[in-house]
Amino acid sequence: MSEETFDVIIVGAGVLGVATAYYMQKNNPNKKILLLERNLAAGQANTAMSAAAVRNMFASSTNQVLTDTSIKYFEHVQNELGHELLFEKTGYLWLLSKSQFEHESVQVWMQRMEKSGISYKVYNKEELKEMIPSLDVDFHDDEEAALMNLNEISYGLFGKDCGVLDPTRLVEYYFDAFKVISHVKPKFGCNVEKLLLEADPKLDLPNEPYVWQKKHITGVITNKGTFRAGTVVLATGAWANELLDPLGIDSKTKAKKRQMFVIHGEDNPKLIEFLNTKGFNEMGCIPFTILPSAGVYFRPQLQEKGFWIGCGDKIGRKYEYIQTDETMIPESSYYENSMYPVLSKYVSAFEGARPVNSWAGGYCYSPDSIPFVYEESGVIVVNGASGSGIMKADALGRIADALYRREKEAELFGGKKVSTTMLSIKDRDVEIESVVI
Ligand SMILES: Cc1cc2nc3c(=O)[nH]c(=O)nc-3n(C[C@H](O)[C@H](O)[C@H](O)COP(=O)(O)OP(=O)(O)OC[C@H]3O[C@@H](n4cnc5c(N)ncnc54)[C@H](O)[C@@H]3O)c2cc1C
Repeated sequence: MSEETFDVIIVGAGVLGVATAYYMQKNNPNKKILLLERNLAAGQANTAMSAAAVRNMFASSTNQVLTDTSIKYFEHVQNELGHELLFEKTGYLWLLSKSQFEHESVQVWMQRMEKSGISYKVYNKEELKEMIPSLDVDFHDDEEAALMNLNEISYGLFGKDCGVLDPTRLVEYYFDAFKVISHVKPKFGCNVEKLLLEADPKLDLPNEPYVWQKKHITGVITNKGTFRAGTVVLATGAWANELLDPLGIDSKTKAKKRQMFVIHGEDNPKLIEFLNTKGFNEMGCIPFTILPSAGVYFRPQLQEKGFWIGCGDKIGRKYEYIQTDETMIPESSYYENSMYPVLSKYVSAFEGARPVNSWAGGYCYSPDSIPFVYEESGVIVVNGASGSGIMKADALGRIADALYRREKEAELFGGKKVSTTMLSIKDRDVEIESVVI
């Protein structure tokens, strides 16, 4: 088996891996950077499973800056660099009950957005009802709705700068840009089995490193041979624990299954009319919308004349330590029994709507729902995106690169600077995120 040496090895070619690869190569043009991925192409794991919705409407200023600058970069890529990402500013619409809206967390969320210059608008019940006739805002005498604990809708919190894009095209953009400037052909079908931890300097003693020796990660052992590098970047998302645990490095992340169900509206005039709800955006479509109960949300899918339906269920859905294959199997009964009843109660146009397709993947959660970027013993870890890694990818790629270059600050798109250690474990300097879908 081969043994080759590089300056950097990046493990994982999801959106975070390819964005990191691109910025590292761009800013370190002479370095030999190897991108490794166990799948046969980039962006096939959780990146491809995502709803690929992007929002700057977060409560923490940390997530606000990561997403706002990334979204502006995506716009720049599409509008100025001419790479079609199918980025459409559909907007995000949070539907909220009176008590949800008045809750301190929502008030703080709005205050923080105002402070950061994140644009949003509040709609009241009457305005919502007029704009979206098939939306049920009150369930006065509806026993079923009461049994299902469905909140009435009193407000809509709308962010016009949010939207949806095609994650495959975003991955392609970074990956192609990386390939053009890279000196090393990326390796696919290459599974990293183990990180190599070695003594520095090596004394060639049996079973070193000993506790008294300096040690760091010097490479990876894969099914295609051993590869060495000064720095290994782990962008393995919901599988990070698999490689870090054996070395005693606690990634502090865990995975949770998330599913998407596709509804087509072609043969359903009511659904098409609902899809084509006017007044919110230039496309004349219903925004990405989060219902006020049970975590159910839907994403307009204009190309498919339909919707992707998801649910950010919390209690009752188990955490997994490492994402398993079982995670990748969608549960049709979950749509039928959990999501559909909620969806069709709020929006009558969904009555009778059955999925034509579905898939599942995993979120990689951090404890505060803010991503991690940190260096530990020769490995840079980029993960913990907590269900919003597409929308933060550009900022995280830039921060990982700045960390590699030992810069104190990373410059994000538009010139904003952030500390390279703010997303670390040891010197973490973030606000806890409360708006997680
Ligand atoms: C249903 C669903 C909906 C979502 N909706 C959104 C959304 O609307 N907006 C948003 O921003 N985010 C969303 N997300 C989250 C988003 O998909 C993730 O945050 C993002 O894809 C994380 O990127 P990543 O590169 O870390 O992960 P991944 O895309 O999973 O990439 C990790 C890569 O590492 C590889 N890998 C792992 N271990 C090894 C190994 N040992 N050797 C070699 N390769 C390895 C994997 O094969 C994989 O390709 C959603 C996720 C799901 C599941």
